Amino acid sequence: MRGGPPDPEGISGVNGSGRAVMCPLCETLWDVTIILTTFSPEEQEQFWAGKGCIDCRGIRKD
Ligand SMILES: [Zn+2]
Repeated sequence: MRGGPPDPEGISGVNGSGRAVMCPLCETLWDVTIILTTFSPEEQEQFWAGKGCIDCRGIRKD
């Protein structure tokens, strides 16, 4: 897939505020640095796509 993370201000479906982004599903505010260091590449893809963070992705089952 893509290499680096997208520009936080240009993420569709995710509200960006400086170096922090809010999960559109659970409204948890994540520091971009934490996302890049804590999330797995797969989890990052999911988060940038607006499909939830590691806190709430388990809750959302469809
Ligand atoms: Zn979330």
